[in-house]
Amino acid sequence: MHVSVKRLQTVNNKVKEVANKTQLKTTPQIIAVSKTFQLSQITPLLDSGHLHFGENKVQEADHKWKDVKKKYKNIQLHMLGKLQTNKAKIAVKIFDYIHSLDNAKLASKIAQFEKELNKKVKLFIQVNIGEEIQKSGIVIKDLQNFYDYCTKELSLNIIGLMCIPPADLDPINYFTMLKKNSEILNLKDLSMGMSNDFEQAVICGTTYLRLGSIIFGPRSI
Ligand SMILES: *Cc1c(COP(=O)(O)O)cnc(C)c1O
Repeated sequence: MHVSVKRLQTVNNKVKEVANKTQLKTTPQIIAVSKTFQLSQITPLLDSGHLHFGENKVQEADHKWKDVKKKYKNIQLHMLGKLQTNKAKIAVKIFDYIHSLDNAKLASKIAQFEKELNKKVKLFIQVNIGEEIQKSGIVIKDLQNFYDYCTKELSLNIIGLMCIPPADLDPINYFTMLKKNSEILNLKDLSMGMSNDFEQAVICGTTYLRLGSIIFGPRSI
């Protein structure tokens, strides 16, 4: 068995174990974050039947996944990184999920391209949960207004909230805060938890985990 398939199995078992212990009703979906990795390193996971993959650059994702998506028709591609409005059209075209909806201009562009392409994307609002200047995302006090704009004025399909908690602090408080706000908005999905904090995210009730290095090994860039 290929090492990445084995690592995915190991982390999936751990996720299930934590989910059971926490008495969650559903086990979170693992997104294998394949950014910077070549297709040859991803193929073993595809052949093992894994369907959810994450990228953080539109050009890289388009180049890497265009042909693969024709062969493996059920693949679900997730956009995880900062999305510039001038790349929004290609993003709507190639991605099934966008986790980085973080401003009104981008929201209106996504709505426009969804109409043009006759396609709906599943969207997470990225929340700047630690109110850090170097991170993008909507701050909590603006969240209700932004959500109303996206859903009522633009008819976007907002399925949940996403966050990256501040580094070097206990993520539990931030994950709990995101969960609470998703309940206020009556959203059922959450995108939180990466390789180094996935167990805490599972405990806090995430529905999607974004896991890169724990599956593929360290990234060189
Ligand atoms: C790269 C990336 C991940 C995966 O990070 P790992 O620490 O390798 O698991 C998750 N989410 C986002 C937004 C990323 O950019």
